Amino acid sequence: MQHLPIFADLAERDCLVVGGGAVAERRVRLLLDAGAAVTVCAPEVSETLARWASDGRVTVLERPFGGLDVEPFWLVVAATDDRATNAAVAAAATAAKRFCNVVDDPSLCSFVTPAIVDRGPVTIAVASGGRSPVLARWIKGLIELAVPIRVGQLATLAGRWRAAVREALPEADRRRRFWQQWVQGPVAEHVLAGRDDAAERAMQATLDAWRHDADEPKRAGEAYLVGAGPGSPDLITIRGRQLLAEADVVLYDRLVNPELLAYARRDAELICVGKVPWKPSITQKQLNRLLVGLVAGGKRVCRLKGGDPLIFGRGGEEIEALVAAGLRFQVVPGVSAAEGCAAYAGIPLTLRGVAHAVLLTTGHAEEHTAAALAEAPVGQTLAFYMGVARYDEIREELLRRGYAPETPVAVVESGTTDRQRVIRTALRSLARAQQALEIRAPALLLVGETTRFAERYAWFQPSKLEIFDEREPALARVTR
Ligand code: SAH
Repeated sequence: MQHLPIFADLAERDCLVVGGGAVAERRVRLLLDAGAAVTVCAPEVSETLARWASDGRVTVLERPFGGLDVEPFWLVVAATDDRATNAAVAAAATAAKRFCNVVDDPSLCSFVTPAIVDRGPVTIAVASGGRSPVLARWIKGLIELAVPIRVGQLATLAGRWRAAVREALPEADRRRRFWQQWVQGPVAEHVLAGRDDAAERAMQATLDAWRHDADEPKRAGEAYLVGAGPGSPDLITIRGRQLLAEADVVLYDRLVNPELLAYARRDAELICVGKVPWKPSITQKQLNRLLVGLVAGGKRVCRLKGGDPLIFGRGGEEIEALVAAGLRFQVVPGVSAAEGCAAYAGIPLTLRGVAHAVLLTTGHAEEHTAAALAEAPVGQTLAFYMGVARYDEIREELLRRGYAPETPVAVVESGTTDRQRVIRTALRSLARAQQALEIRAPALLLVGETTRFAERYAWFQPSKLEIFDEREPALARVTR
C-alpha cells in the first residue's frame, strides 16, 4: 500500500497553508470545509483570501515563509508557485514531524489529498499515490453515480440509534447481524427515499422485533415508476438506475432500451408489458392489476417506462390503481421524448424572441389534438407524440387553425439513438414526407419556427438530417 488512508478530525485544529493564489485558495477551502482553523502565509493574497481574512474565516500572515515556525500546526500545505519555497516548507515540516502536502510535487509530500465523494458524514476518498489525480477524479465520478445521495442521512440515523441498539442487543454477533440486515432493509429504503419519519418508525419496530426475537416486520412492497428516458440508455437518471437495481420485478415497456435491463438485479424477474400499436397485447387494466398484485404481495416493482412516466405514459392511471389499493410508490421523472429529441436534433423548444411556449400533445386521436390546439398562436412550439399514421389529418387540422402551409416542421425518428433521423420539411409536405421517406414510430413531430435550427445546430453525429421538399421529392437532401 503506497499511502494509508486515514480520516483526520481537523475541527478547530490549526493548519498552515503557504501561498496566496488560486491553488492555495482551493486548499484553504477544503480545510475550512473540514472545520480547520486555517492560517495562510504569503506576501500577497488573492481577493477571496483577503475577504475570508476580513470575515474572520482565516488568519493571514502577510509575509514570506522564511523562518516561520511550523510547530504549532497539525498539517502544512505548500501551495506557492515557487519550487524553492515549497521545498523549504516541506523541509521545515519534515524537521518538525508535521505532515506536509506540496501541491503538484508528490516527491515532497508526506500526505496527499484524495479525490473526495462527500456525503457527510460519509466520506469516500480516492487516491492514486500521487500518480494521476485525473484518474482518481474519474474514479470518484463513477462512485458518485453508484452511491445514493442520501447515504449521509442513513449514517446519521445509524449514529443516533447506535446506543439504543447496543443496549437492546448486547451480544456483539447478533448486533452485527442486525446492522448487516439493516443496511438493505426497510429503514434504509425509507431514508434513501426521503421518508425520514417512516424510517424512524421502521427502526423502532425492527429493533423491537429483534429484541424479542420475533419476526422482523415484513418489508412492504413498493412500486417505482421510473422514466427510462427517450432511447439512449445513458439518459436515465441516477435515481432511476438505483431503483431499477433494487427491484425484485421489472415491468418494462417496448420503448425502453433493452440495454437498461442490464442494471436490474441478476435474479430480478423481467416482464415486458409493451403495448404494440394495433396488435392485441396486455391491456392497461390487466397491467394495473398485475402491478397492484405484485406490490401487494410484498414485491418491489420497477415500472420502467419510456421517456417520462407521467407524459403520455399512462403513469397517472397506474398511480391511481396503486393509491386505490393503498400501496406505496415513488415516481422518478425521465427525459421525455420531446426534450430528448429536441436536444439531440439541435432544436430549441423555446427560444428568446422566437418561441415562448411549448405544447406537448398527441397526434393519435383527433379529438385530443383538436382540444389542445389554440388558433395558430405565435411563438409556440408544438410537440406531437404518436400518430405517425395521422400526419395528413394533423396537417389539415393545423391549416384549419390558421397555421401557414410553409410553417417549418421536423420529425425526429428514434431520437437519441444511433438510428436517429431528423426530417425537416414544411407543414404542407408533412404527410408526403412521411410516405416518401418511410418515417416509422417511434417518431416525434415538432412544429414551429425553432425547428429550422435543426440544420444549423445539428451536433449529434450518428443522426441523419433529411430535408424534404414536396415539389421536388426526388431531391430529398440527406445532409449527413
Ligand atoms: N412517456 C413517453 C411517451 C410515451 S408515448 C415520453 O415521455 O417520452 C410514445 C411516443 O413517444 C411515441 O409514439 C413517440 O411519439 C414518442 N417517442 C418516444 N420515444 C421516442 C424516440 N426515441 N424518438 C422519437 N419519438 C419518441
